[in-house]
Amino acid sequence: MTWHVAVEDLRAYARGELSPPLLWSADTHLLACAQCRAVLAGVGDPATLDAGWERLDAELDAPRPGRLESLLVRLGIADHTARLLTATPVLRRSWLAAVVFLLVATVGAVYTAGSPTLFLALAPLLPLAGVALAYGPVMDPTYEMAVVAPLHGFRLLMIRTVAVLATGIGLNLLATLALPSYGLRALAWLLPALALTATGLALTPRLGPVLAPSLVGLAWVALLAVRAGGDRTPVPFTAAGQGAAAVLAALAVGLLLLVRDRFDFFSRSAA
Ligand SMILES: [Zn+2]
Repeated sequence: MTWHVAVEDLRAYARGELSPPLLWSADTHLLACAQCRAVLAGVGDPATLDAGWERLDAELDAPRPGRLESLLVRLGIADHTARLLTATPVLRRSWLAAVVFLLVATVGAVYTAGSPTLFLALAPLLPLAGVALAYGPVMDPTYEMAVVAPLHGFRLLMIRTVAVLATGIGLNLLATLALPSYGLRALAWLLPALALTATGLALTPRLGPVLAPSLVGLAWVALLAVRAGGDRTPVPFTAAGQGAAAVLAALAVGLLLLVRDRFDFFSRSAA
């Protein structure tokens, strides 16, 4: 290993003050690095550390692969990636149930109102919220401990994002199938969903894991209030709006690649 967690970051970690994405980079590294665990043991408060080690030991001693994880491994996905995907809190049942409930309710509202606008407005927010919850401070630390392979922050970010995004988009597509009378128009959420999620992630290193997706979500709601043309279509669902969403998604992905080091704990502490 060529990098290690800086001592002041280990102090912050021990005090519980390290925030994502640095927090889960530290978790990941600590699981793989005895040297940093030894340093951490020297700088931390014994009571806090004991609780942390108990969790860590439990995970290391008893790697119980779940059914989904075993399936992913059989499909040829590497062990640690499968562990990571199934440990992503957002993919747990409570989140999926909430998304399915919202989509069913929204599709019902579309049938009642005779207009797909509500569905189109909500669908892009679900993947954004999913990705935000996968990295935000509400995540369950014991699930983070399940990460057993040393991964760099950005790679971790991408694996989780792709998992959450694919799930969110898949569910949205199922809901779209329930609205056949609107044809391709019912797919107008797709480009905005990609644009919102990519923008939220690209802004996370600067604004933090809560403010970035919140601002992007608010901007989306504000845009929906802007109407265009004789039928007063919300501007994101016009041809120009769809084009702008595609451009924004591409720009945000480019920005994300440019700032990818900011997600990486180790490039910061090595500097
Ligand atoms: Zn280390």
